[in-house]
Amino acid sequence: MLTNENYFSPENQMKYMGVSQFKAFEKCEAAALAELTGEYQREKTVSLLVGSYVDAHFEGTLDVFKAQNPEIFTKKGELKAEYRKAEEIIQRIERDPLFVTFLSGESQVIMTGEIEGVPVKIKIDSYHAGKMLVDLKIMKDFQPVYVPEQGRLSWIEAWGYDLQGAVYQEIVRQNTGDKLPFYLAAATKEKETDIDIIEIPQPYLDVSLEHFKENVIRYDGIKKGLFQPRRCEKCDYCKQTKVLTAPRSMEVLDYE
Ligand SMILES: [Zn+2]
Repeated sequence: MLTNENYFSPENQMKYMGVSQFKAFEKCEAAALAELTGEYQREKTVSLLVGSYVDAHFEGTLDVFKAQNPEIFTKKGELKAEYRKAEEIIQRIERDPLFVTFLSGESQVIMTGEIEGVPVKIKIDSYHAGKMLVDLKIMKDFQPVYVPEQGRLSWIEAWGYDLQGAVYQEIVRQNTGDKLPFYLAAATKEKETDIDIIEIPQPYLDVSLEHFKENVIRYDGIKKGLFQPRRCEKCDYCKQTKVLTAPRSMEVLDYE
């Protein structure tokens, strides 16, 4: 049985595919696998923690979050500047009635299902049964993002939130029979916080689900040791574990 306490446990990370895990495999298969086996740990960045702070507030688990992350306080016991910003974001969100309505569903609802025979887990930030699925996002800003080989993408596509919506919708459909719209309720960390609520249109969700189906069997196979993970040779993990075997010609650099 999956709970909020064991959702990210090593056993359940191995047993189930999740959306962030899938995205990690897309970036670098070798790093994603190393993270699952405990060989490698991704950096816990301040930027990530600010988002988690806001999440924790709306889940009603801020006390637990503070206890688990003592580094968010100064020696004097005051919140560090970044987390005071998180407090400002929370206040901005709470000043907007529509935003609050979207966040007022059932909080942190966990469901499991199967896609292409692979067990998949999801955790919905705000589940409005029979109506809609909402995920809370705390972004740097809402500007388009340049992604190598793909060009300029909206922040939603650049961060793979269309994929998240697709998987959430499919797993909820398997559990309840309802195919529900997927919304992002988003706020920014800018000096003046911006807010927005975005619906991801169904055709985008359909394309993303197909993409998930195309790759999930390979990633699950890597977890089971059936396929060798590919190294991207660009990420921190690949740099850390790189072994030089021979010098290279300057000319090959032009093609990278
Ligand atoms: Zn890599």
